[in-house]
Amino acid sequence: MARLIGTALLWLALLALIAAAYIHGRNYVRTHPQDVPWTPLRLDDPMGAFTLRKLVSLSEDPAHCRALLGAAGSGDLSASARVAQANCNYSDGMRLASAPGEVTFAPSGEVTRCSMAAALLVWERQVLQPAALRHLGHKVRRIDHAGSYSCRRLYNRSEGAFSEHATANAFDVLGFRLTDGTSVSVLKDWRGPGSKSAFLREVRDGACELFATVLGPDYNLAHADHLHFDHAARGRMGFGVCR
Ligand SMILES: [Zn+2]
Repeated sequence: MARLIGTALLWLALLALIAAAYIHGRNYVRTHPQDVPWTPLRLDDPMGAFTLRKLVSLSEDPAHCRALLGAAGSGDLSASARVAQANCNYSDGMRLASAPGEVTFAPSGEVTRCSMAAALLVWERQVLQPAALRHLGHKVRRIDHAGSYSCRRLYNRSEGAFSEHATANAFDVLGFRLTDGTSVSVLKDWRGPGSKSAFLREVRDGACELFATVLGPDYNLAHADHLHFDHAARGRMGFGVCR
């Protein structure tokens, strides 16, 4: 009899353990959707283990991407497609436009693929602005850039693979203008012990969680004056390059 009670208690304890694990798991998914592969992406979720994969995968579902940007009140939702030649085209372009009070892009009116626009929005809100406030005491008012779409091969070579820029799947950041008028330039301020350099490095490191490729002055001379962000397909598997 005692042995029977002992076995029953053991089973009860096991069931209680399984129930506790189930409840804990369900709560974890609810409070950490960014760290779980199957939860749908929301642009205001904190960045997590699966944010990069979900952002790059938005290229497979343009309608969902546009809905996310629309809900976030950002981006110009007018459709945009472009086909120049076989290797230079996109069908889910999004004109970068800011809601009132948000950062602007200079020059304005640039088009990127929708997934890039979504990642830029998360980067602006969760990486760029907090870093600017922390290191420089003011928010960013303007992002100076060198564009997204450009029909060319890597490093402008005459042969070889096409750049992610050829499908508007990349974006080059040159620097920033803050609300107090301060300018921060990748070319001039990357090196050195100052707060501008610390700000730029934090902005680069944060981008590595949102873009499949992030290249800057630490990589090579061709990137001495800008940060290159792109959504190369390997990002869907969570493989990023951050240099
Ligand atoms: Zn680039």
